[in-house]
Amino acid sequence: MRILLVEDDAALAEATAKALRAEHFAVDVAANGEDGAHLGDTESYDAAVLDLGLPRKSGITVLEEWRAAGRALPVLILTARDGWSEKVAGFRAGADDYLTKPFRIEELVMRLRALVRRSAGHAAARIVCGPITFDAQTGQVERDGLPLRLTALEWRVLSTLMLRKGVVVERLDLMEHIYEGDADPDSNSLEVIVGRLRKKIGADLIETVRGRGYRIIAA
Ligand code: CA
Repeated sequence: MRILLVEDDAALAEATAKALRAEHFAVDVAANGEDGAHLGDTESYDAAVLDLGLPRKSGITVLEEWRAAGRALPVLILTARDGWSEKVAGFRAGADDYLTKPFRIEELVMRLRALVRRSAGHAAARIVCGPITFDAQTGQVERDGLPLRLTALEWRVLSTLMLRKGVVVERLDLMEHIYEGDADPDSNSLEVIVGRLRKKIGADLIETVRGRGYRIIAA
């Protein structure tokens, strides 16, 4: 899962990105509206966290432009404490959720996971595949009912495949959802991660679809 964070308060952006990474999210940070709009136009994210008061282009304008261009990316806006009119403007521009500053990082994480889960078409939090259960709301992965420890990259691959259970996820698409914008992965790194993941979850659960990508079995 990869998140776009558009926030011009450098300290808040840094603390938020750090906390999201600790929860295994990949995070790209933009410090102004123009850069944020550009990243949302050109990269693949599972959700965006969008501050409204931004230099160079307001958050509302960024959101309106994304929606006018047909981008379905789930967007959570950050609003001021007494910002009723900001919330209304945000929803009218196409926001999916909001959080009032200051916020608890745990609440941001829960709301982001819910947005990603719902936009992937899952009403329930738990997604089951053979012996593996992925809880899209807590982020926990279990094998035969026991917690499974995964690295951030392993978790991102597994969560992406589980959210699209039974569907082939193209190789480039998968890479876009697990690496941050400034990462420079070498060409076989995805195969290495999938290999390690297969050792942990069972070799048969992830199918390699030659020339395309990977699919987690539907059962
Ligand atoms: Ca701001």
